[in-house]
Amino acid sequence: MEIAEIQLGKLHCPTCALKLEQGVRELEGVGQVQLNFNAGRLIVHYDPAIIERSTLVAAVKRAGYSTAHEDKKGFWRDPELVLTALSGLLLAGGLGISLSLFGPDPVLLRPFSLSAILYLGSILAGGYYILRRGWAAVRARSLNIDFLVSIAVLGAVGIGEFFEAASLVFLFSVAEILEDWAADRARGSLKELMELAPTIARVRRDGREELVPVEELRVGELILVKPGERISMDGVVEAESSTVNQAPITGESLPVHKSRGDQVFAGTINIDGFLEIRVTKLVQDSTLAKIIRLVEEAEAEKAPTEQFVERFARYYTPTVVGAAIAVAAIPPLFLAQEITGWFLKAITLLVIACPCALVISTPVSVVSAITGAARRGVLIKGGIHLENMGRVRAIGIDKTGTLTLGQPQVTDVVPLNDHSEEELLGIAAALERRSEHPLAEAIVRAAEERQLRLEDVEDFQALAGRGVRAKLNGRTYYVGKPALFADLGLDQLKLADDHLIKLQEEGKTAVLVGTERELCGIIALADRPRPGAREAIQRLRELGVKVVMLTGDNPRTAKAIAEELGIGAERVRAELLPEEKIEEIKRLTDQFGTVAMVGDGVNDAPALAAATVGIAMGVAGTDAALETADIALMADDLGKLPYLVELGRKARWVIKENIWASILIKLALSAGVFPGVVTLALAVLVGDMGATLGVTANALRLARVR
Ligand code: ADP
Ligand code: MG
Repeated sequence: MEIAEIQLGKLHCPTCALKLEQGVRELEGVGQVQLNFNAGRLIVHYDPAIIERSTLVAAVKRAGYSTAHEDKKGFWRDPELVLTALSGLLLAGGLGISLSLFGPDPVLLRPFSLSAILYLGSILAGGYYILRRGWAAVRARSLNIDFLVSIAVLGAVGIGEFFEAASLVFLFSVAEILEDWAADRARGSLKELMELAPTIARVRRDGREELVPVEELRVGELILVKPGERISMDGVVEAESSTVNQAPITGESLPVHKSRGDQVFAGTINIDGFLEIRVTKLVQDSTLAKIIRLVEEAEAEKAPTEQFVERFARYYTPTVVGAAIAVAAIPPLFLAQEITGWFLKAITLLVIACPCALVISTPVSVVSAITGAARRGVLIKGGIHLENMGRVRAIGIDKTGTLTLGQPQVTDVVPLNDHSEEELLGIAAALERRSEHPLAEAIVRAAEERQLRLEDVEDFQALAGRGVRAKLNGRTYYVGKPALFADLGLDQLKLADDHLIKLQEEGKTAVLVGTERELCGIIALADRPRPGAREAIQRLRELGVKVVMLTGDNPRTAKAIAEELGIGAERVRAELLPEEKIEEIKRLTDQFGTVAMVGDGVNDAPALAAATVGIAMGVAGTDAALETADIALMADDLGKLPYLVELGRKARWVIKENIWASILIKLALSAGVFPGVVTLALAVLVGDMGATLGVTANALRLARVR
């Protein structure tokens, strides 16, 4: 099996598109077929031994759809636009003549007057594509709006209503063009994302500089980026330094300084320096490529509301078709009424019945919200997570590295039992040298600053969420939280008690150093709250969302930091082992229903998975976190949390508005058909074009949420 991705030109309505999917699936040699309506792309799994790609493309065209490359034409090159314009001119001419603006209307060919002939020309010009697509629908044994309009046009011509038919054709063609334009607007920002990365890179090969298409670059090559240029590949700065605007990827408003060893991303802008960058990823694996792929996948995934709407449409459409047949047949057959009027009424009902606006209402909102978020450095991986975000009533946030900067610093060294400060720090750092924990790194850094010589240890072991253990000069030492030493049965703990209470009340994390029998001392470390965290929490509270701090640290330290951040003491869950964080999330879910969890996405991955919505922070550059989280914040910016809650709520609201508006418009129009208030033209203008444009415009508001 091979996979063909066919970029489609114009997709008018998702129900018609579903028909295309079915039609292609029925071809011999075709397996899975998936249509991503929002990206306008058809993905076909096919067996090249049985069917050729060109046959697939031909089938798509036969069904009345154009493929992308023939789509990018100017006005004069797009036959649909030209024919529509021609149709409009002929209609206007015919109307002018029939109103006797240019004198009496000559009868050229009994019974056709000049105006009637112009109307017929207008119908032919504007109706060509409509009839073609309508005919394709008949052959696919399906009902689409082109088919309905074709019947209406032919019916009107048949009963001699040329003006009715011509105006229907023209209005409907204009409606299609406008809807295309609106759908393009909704998809547009994703295209902008794709256009961010340059397609050509300046690379240094064998000491010479050359310009090379990015597809040809390999990992390990050296690219050069001048001031003002966009960086074309993901990589690591090899030489020189510069400020880089990372907003396209992370949504950070402030530029970031980059120097040797720092990671840079394709699509970001090198502001003022010259950078030499060692390529670390192929172009198709770059963070930007990953974002675009994930956004596309997210948009293809159907939100729960969308599934409901599709089920609804399945019953709704046949019902209305049945009703229309009854309206056309019953009054003339049984009530001795004239057929023309009732036939037109029935056709009008069918045009109103096309559930396009209803079917498009949810996906267009989801797409608009997800692309808007992606441009702000927030990756929402599906409509379901967006809708859940709108329901969230509590958010659990990891303390270390999320609420705080995660860069603790040693503040106090308190030796006990006749040890010296140097001795204490030396022992601790010797053990911690083997650990990757942020506390460990801080302790090692403090020892290095004092230029202590660190001895080698043996049998090192990390005790997750508690500390570390290793052998030093034949004795087993521990560094870790006080509870660890209590578990070891050390009876010297009261020596440390007063110090511990004081340090912890200052918001410091205190770790003990010692063996199973002897305490060597206390090392205290302080981590700063992340800038902006307090404001973000305040805003979440205003939105009525409970913020709960989760941490493995001890309660006193946790509470001191919580207080600084404006989190109530009753919302602090401290001394949690990693698996207890999962329990805590489950408890919150029982209590609040919908719960989000925010963490770094690597250490906290299980807790993120346990929450209704798992949000990983600062993931630009960490692929694992980017893949596993439901929502990924590219930068370390807690301010994105209230944004997400507001976006989710607004999205749910807009979706509801769209669904109800489209149902109500259809109902009102249908009711107006019988007294003759709603004509065919009005049905097309309001019921089809108006509803679809209205729903799309409403959805576009989501892209502007801040
Ligand atoms: P958090 O949930 O705040 O990210 P962890 O679960 O990583 O914290 O660790 C919980 C506690 O265990 C820390 O506050 C510290 O007291 C202790 N601890 C864990 N690892 C180490 C280590 N390598 N060295 C010293 N103490 C540690
Ligand atoms: Mg942590």
